[in-house]
Amino acid sequence: MPLVITEETPPDGYERLIFARDDESGLIAYICIHSTLCGPAAGGCRMWRYDNLDAARTDVLRLAQGMTAKNALAGVGLGGGKSVIVGDAAKDKSADLLRAFGRAVDHLGGQYYTAEDVGISPADMKIVSEETAFAVGLEGGDHGSGDPSPFTAEGVFQCLKVGARNVFGRDDLTGRRVLVQGLGHVGMSLAEKLHGAGASLIVSDINQNAVNDARDRFRADTCGVDEVFDAQMDIFAPCALGGILTMDTAQRLSAQLICGAANNQLAEDAVAEALRARGVRYLPDYVVNAGGIISVAGEIHKAGDSYREARLAGIATRIEEILEISAKTQRSTTRVANELVDQVLADAAGTNLELTA
Ligand code: NAD
Repeated sequence: MPLVITEETPPDGYERLIFARDDESGLIAYICIHSTLCGPAAGGCRMWRYDNLDAARTDVLRLAQGMTAKNALAGVGLGGGKSVIVGDAAKDKSADLLRAFGRAVDHLGGQYYTAEDVGISPADMKIVSEETAFAVGLEGGDHGSGDPSPFTAEGVFQCLKVGARNVFGRDDLTGRRVLVQGLGHVGMSLAEKLHGAGASLIVSDINQNAVNDARDRFRADTCGVDEVFDAQMDIFAPCALGGILTMDTAQRLSAQLICGAANNQLAEDAVAEALRARGVRYLPDYVVNAGGIISVAGEIHKAGDSYREARLAGIATRIEEILEISAKTQRSTTRVANELVDQVLADAAGTNLELTA
């Protein structure tokens, strides 16, 4: 049976949700378009071992909505969307499966651009691109942007310096204790930058090889994965999983500043207020980790390096603005960022939004 695409009814506030299935290649995927108010939707494709279809559907909805917020504040003229493929990237991925996914993306006719996310590499995206012009994050070519991770790391690093200036009165990181949780594509690159800036690193990862590597390269202290929230640090840089900032960990954390790449760090929005009440500055993840999508947007818009550089610098400026408004209004940085997103979307929709005090 060829690729079967089913249009599902999305929840309120979402534009489109499609389910794609190709029995020959084993493809089972969701593609969600949350919003095209700011432009065609863009967001990566994640391949993950979901327990069931409901879990995959829930994830794609949450991630697509997050992309709307990220893309709106990054000013990249793109809306929010995301895709997930159900399966083990190490075992189930094949060229046929990726091509079938490419045909599903192409079915949306340019309403959605896909790129790399967890489990999907630039080499995989190249195969997807054989079936659709709406696959980006490609290596080579006139505008190919390749792996977005170094740009994500650079954006996080710049924001971390803004945060340090705000909290400690100076952005010189010499001797600052920074704990980097997760030493993957972004975390290792960030650790390298922090080491170069003189920070004193503590590193943690479930992958012992990565921990040993960082320990040797950056003279980093190491920390068990269960000890992170009890370690002594000035700055916490979460670059692994989402959902790590809970009411409990927010109380335990010794850091005065949180700035990292991981998506969806807050287990619930109320944690942002709990952190604020303790005097901990939390820099909203979807603002600081926008470097990757900025890099991808340059490819979509066929723009030069100056496009990317200007917007990358804009991330740090946005964080300064958010910290300033947060201090002035005594509202959490998350609430301030969410309100700025609402404003961008309202402007894009040509409506006037009444913001609540
Ligand atoms: P990655 O898969 O390369 O790295 C993740 C690392 O976290 C791995 O080394 C893994 O072993 C480690 N890890 C997993 N569970 C852990 C735990 N409990 N404790 C400590 N370490 C753990 O991913 P990445 O591309 O570096 O992305 C990191 C985070 O940043 C993810 O949340 C991702 O969604 C987000 N993000 C990445 C980009 C990008 O450009 N790559 C852009 C925006 C957001």
